[in-house]
Amino acid sequence: MTRPLSLAFDLPRLRSLRNWIMEAGLCTRPGADPSQWSPEKEPARNAERQRRLYEQAAAALCHGCKALTSCRMTAEVEEHQLLLQQGYTPHGIRGGEAPWVRHDRLLASINARANSEEEAA
Ligand code: SF4
Repeated sequence: MTRPLSLAFDLPRLRSLRNWIMEAGLCTRPGADPSQWSPEKEPARNAERQRRLYEQAAAALCHGCKALTSCRMTAEVEEHQLLLQQGYTPHGIRGGEAPWVRHDRLLASINARANSEEEAA
């Protein structure tokens, strides 16, 4: 059985990261348009050019955000947990990354953990 990354994070730490994102995130500034970080449509897996453009737009949107590291850590913990518990697939831009980038990394992390646990058993 795989263990969620969130076990490495206690709730106060996660709360502190979320507070920092609310305080310093470019997407949480007054006047920021949340729909920019959550485009309605995401390009299909085989739409490589659109995906590249989306990834560039994501990086540009979050460029210079002081909360970027906290945002990536929070996204990883939350989305990992949701993926394991509910089969959730990430959506929208977080930490300057497209959802499929985060999803692929999560699946790789889950597979790597499962393999190392199998080897240890
Ligand atoms: S890195 Fe991007 S998504 Fe995360 S808080 Fe900053 S602007 Fe928002």
